[in-house]
Amino acid sequence: MSKKVIDVGKIYFIKDNNNTKMCSDIKIDNRHNTLWFSLKNEDAKYFCERADAFVMAILPIAMTRGYDVICHDLMSKKLHYQLNHYLIPILNDETEIYNKMSIYADLTDKVETENAVMTSFTGGVDSLYTIMKHGKESDFPIKYLCLFNLKSYYMYIEKRDEKENFYKQCERVEEFARQYNYEKIYLDTNLDECLSEYFSTVVTFRNIACVLSIQKLVGTYLLSSSRKATQFEIDPYISEAFDLLIVPLASTESLTFYLSGAEKTRIEKIKELTEYDISYKWLHPCARRGLDEKNCGHCSKCLRDLATLWYFGELDKYKEVFDIDKYKKNLNQNLAYAIVNTKGILDKDVSDLLLSSKSLPDEAKKYSKYFKTAIKNLEEYKNDKKDDKE
Ligand SMILES: [Zn+2]
Repeated sequence: MSKKVIDVGKIYFIKDNNNTKMCSDIKIDNRHNTLWFSLKNEDAKYFCERADAFVMAILPIAMTRGYDVICHDLMSKKLHYQLNHYLIPILNDETEIYNKMSIYADLTDKVETENAVMTSFTGGVDSLYTIMKHGKESDFPIKYLCLFNLKSYYMYIEKRDEKENFYKQCERVEEFARQYNYEKIYLDTNLDECLSEYFSTVVTFRNIACVLSIQKLVGTYLLSSSRKATQFEIDPYISEAFDLLIVPLASTESLTFYLSGAEKTRIEKIKELTEYDISYKWLHPCARRGLDEKNCGHCSKCLRDLATLWYFGELDKYKEVFDIDKYKKNLNQNLAYAIVNTKGILDKDVSDLLLSSKSLPDEAKKYSKYFKTAIKNLEEYKNDKKDDKE
């Protein structure tokens, strides 16, 4: 039996009064889906009519199933080479879930591009750190801020649907760009509706796909790293854990990707941000509230970053974006939560940081012991329930 393939159809455009979509019909197992990236009509000139973006978007599915990819449009030669000869074989060797496959396409090289330096604006620690480090004096001063409509499973904005949230986020980026003199671009896409994949496994691939779709604008893209390079691991369920591998291999003849901030831990970045006054008004790590609202102060991301700010004695600088008085009122419980929350690598760093502090209140330590016991009891209870069922 011949090997199964995914067809990436010829690219075409659909335009309405406001937006232009760059589309490709993707055929997987006899099912057709139209993937698209959408820009405002005035920005549609930046679309790059190549298979690059679509290939990157479907790469995790193709690797998971071990299907070859056949492109019916041109692809950048450098990207094609890097994926076929490095990224795919490495991920196949190092993971259980990614299989051998190849990409077939007719190849081309440089795109005519505006050569802009761009990064995405989310208000998070990593994003603000990238913006801080790439001001006018830097080697790559940022000209464009972008926002991609990539829905994420861990973002659950209360009382809001995804589309509405995207538009609200765009308004905030607009305001930031106006205040600090940046250009901006917003890109919508239906990747999430068409490709049913767990978001954390594909977030890097999808971010890169969006950038590749606008290569006529971008010459340098600064992808904000969520962890330090030394925390690298090929964990197929967390694509950000191996950004250091994927990101440089996504560059083309016209577009270079850098993994910005990979030289620092999140804690080190926060320390530097406390000297960057723009962060006092714009820091927004929250997973529960939109960019246009104050951080909630009680989700795991808020509590992690607030605990770090407490450690450095810098909470009061962030009164505009957090309810600091409320946080301080329950300081011991809040710190205790950050101590016991050691699920992710970044959480563990903050827990260790707090435990190393000489000023950690005894009450916080006491609460953390209660919480740990409660968590342990809950786990035992769950396991008992599981045993009863079996
Ligand atoms: Zn929050």
